[in-house]
Amino acid sequence: MLSREYALSEDTKEEDLVALVEKLNKDDEIHGILVQLPLPKQIDEEKIINAIDPKKDVDAFHPANVGKIMIGNFDYLPCTPAGVMELIKETGIEIEGKECVIIGRSNIVGKPQAMLMLHKNATVTICHSRTKDLKEVVKRADIVVAAVGRPNFVTADMVKEGAVVIDVGINRLENKKLCGDVDFESVSKVASYITPVPGGVGPMTIAMLMQNTLTAAKLTLK
Ligand code: NAD
Repeated sequence: MLSREYALSEDTKEEDLVALVEKLNKDDEIHGILVQLPLPKQIDEEKIINAIDPKKDVDAFHPANVGKIMIGNFDYLPCTPAGVMELIKETGIEIEGKECVIIGRSNIVGKPQAMLMLHKNATVTICHSRTKDLKEVVKRADIVVAAVGRPNFVTADMVKEGAVVIDVGINRLENKKLCGDVDFESVSKVASYITPVPGGVGPMTIAMLMQNTLTAAKLTLK
């Protein structure tokens, strides 16, 4: 894979970033475009995502690709949720019919995660900052996906014995160490499977991005 990095300055104008995206849209050497978010405040994120050619949108953030994920007939995998699905697949545990609880409802993790699990016939619940009795809801889950962005948010008393626990969170502590949304120490004693942070979902997200890039190249050859 050819990889080109454009590290633009923080004061880049919105129209300049749009122009770069449009240039790459037309470049036959480039099959996939990823704009690293978040963007500086002078740039409208939605405008930039919408400028990416949906056929080169390997992050699957463009509304056309989001819509396809919702319907279940999609070219590109939403990278982080797809990585989570791969991790669950590796356990050999069947998702169909399972109670899956996702904590977090962002457009990049929570919502597409729910869709992928629904497409696999799970019973899916999405929890968020206004959810009442969060502990009770999470305790029902056979599979828990935590994407909150709060260190050690999920504790052992919230998790059913034998549940699969996938930790999407990446939090930087004051001592500069990385930690997830799940209190690994205590939850690993009740979960049947648990992912570490770092070294769990993060590398899978990158692997799925590579897969999308390959898919993008193949689509242009069709
Ligand atoms: P976000 O901030 O957009 O969303 C957080 C979600 O958590 C929100 O939907 C909010 O409703 C929910 N939430 C916040 N407080 C809550 C509470 N007290 N109770 C219940 N729900 C609550 O974050 P995001 O972009 O979805 O990312 C979530 C985490 O995952 C972050 O730590 C981020 O760094 C990490 N992340 C990791 C990867 C990866 O590749 N591993 C990819 C994307 C995001």
